Amino acid sequence: MRRGPFHAYAADLAAWVAISSIAALGFVTWRAGGVVQRRLVADGGAALAATDDAQLASAEGTAHVEMAELDSSVDAAPPTQRRTYNVVIITVDTLRADLGFSGYPRPVSPNIDALAARSIVYEQAYAMASFTPKCLGPLLIGRYSSETYRDYAHYTNFAPANVFLGERVQEAGGRTAGAASHRYFGWRKGFDQGLDVWDTSAIPPNSVDNDPTITSAKLTDVAIGLLSSERAADVPVRDGKPFVTEPRSGTASGHFLTWFHYLDPHLPYVPHADAPSFASMREPGIPRERAPYDGEVWFTDQEVGRLLRHIGEQPWAKETAIILTADHGEAFGEKGHWGHGRELWEPLVHVPLLVYVPGAPPRRIKAKRSHIDIVPTVLELMGLPPDPELHGKSLLADLEAAPGEVEERDVYIDMPDGPYNELRRAVLTGPSPGIKLIEFNGNRYELYDLRFDPNETKNIAWSDPTQLEAAKEALKRMRSSLKERPAVK
Ligand SMILES: [Zn+2]
Repeated sequence: MRRGPFHAYAADLAAWVAISSIAALGFVTWRAGGVVQRRLVADGGAALAATDDAQLASAEGTAHVEMAELDSSVDAAPPTQRRTYNVVIITVDTLRADLGFSGYPRPVSPNIDALAARSIVYEQAYAMASFTPKCLGPLLIGRYSSETYRDYAHYTNFAPANVFLGERVQEAGGRTAGAASHRYFGWRKGFDQGLDVWDTSAIPPNSVDNDPTITSAKLTDVAIGLLSSERAADVPVRDGKPFVTEPRSGTASGHFLTWFHYLDPHLPYVPHADAPSFASMREPGIPRERAPYDGEVWFTDQEVGRLLRHIGEQPWAKETAIILTADHGEAFGEKGHWGHGRELWEPLVHVPLLVYVPGAPPRRIKAKRSHIDIVPTVLELMGLPPDPELHGKSLLADLEAAPGEVEERDVYIDMPDGPYNELRRAVLTGPSPGIKLIEFNGNRYELYDLRFDPNETKNIAWSDPTQLEAAKEALKRMRSSLKERPAVK
């Protein structure tokens, strides 16, 4: 019997709580081999005995138990045959990191919160810049902005010499599709590279810059249309038929990659009549100017939720990983700054990052991470070999690390200058949350110790010259490892 989407979602969460220990082991097995399989049986039995019968009798509970069993059968295969996934990447423009699941007191993100409850949540994830093209291009290429082949335009044109994630997946035999709703993405500036279908029909006709049209509902319709096939191997779908008909071979054949970019939280903030009255909510520390933005986030969350429910109802849902993040954040008066695109303050570059892998237990990761890790993560999820040329590392290693043993790494943020922004670089070093050095225009520095000063109120560049020199060295080291190239003017 087909269940209603809300019931499916709520029950799914309840089932997760009930048998998360089984699912957890199920996930570990695809890497660890037969020894863990025996643990799966033993621990699974204990969990079953300890779990409420009514919950396990539900269809959802059964589905998850079957999933765990499926995982254990995968375990019997040679260790080299790892479980692989379809991947859906969802990016939301201008989505701040403070959402419901990360402690924001207003109910702006119930659907994303529900995904977070099933996902690996990165509590300190960073964009690679604070301006859309300089964030999304690098995210999908897997390189820092300065390394990409690009022009100097405000709306950066990424040259064919860049290798986008879609190209890697296509080459390995996977199907690919994407959709976005800002007019920039309709100008074929490189984002369609490697995508079988690049759907820009959600862009409003005669769209202007900072278009006030609401586009998330249309984007979800487009995404659902592309993902409407019983067989993952037939995605993307157009007019009810697989868009790609010729057979493809390779490690990713039978899998798909999709990327959907939502826009509505970006300025201008358009009111939504059915949104909660955020303007009437009074919480300390939240400026009143944020209420209309919260309404846009709430509306976008509803549409992201509709897409997530559709995915959850598909036969291939159990083989589909979901990565949700923002291109960058937004400032509401922090450091006297509003909007985004020019600076690298925390509200602008600290972004939400959720990685949902079917069968993996939900987890919170405190170690700082970066969008530079997205491409290597997708490669591993889809069974593609790692590319040693890339700077990022697959996030899947974090899923298996013991608590307290998650690797600490530096985070580099790289925003070259453009027609409307000056050059900014930043590096975060040391144990998370770390020390943050910001370089302004290549000749001025500010230093913040995020452990004691998460809001970057006290620049310690002058008072702590030792830390400053160490951070500048880290920045220098990072840059020397890059193949920087100038933008074509
Ligand atoms: Zn943006």
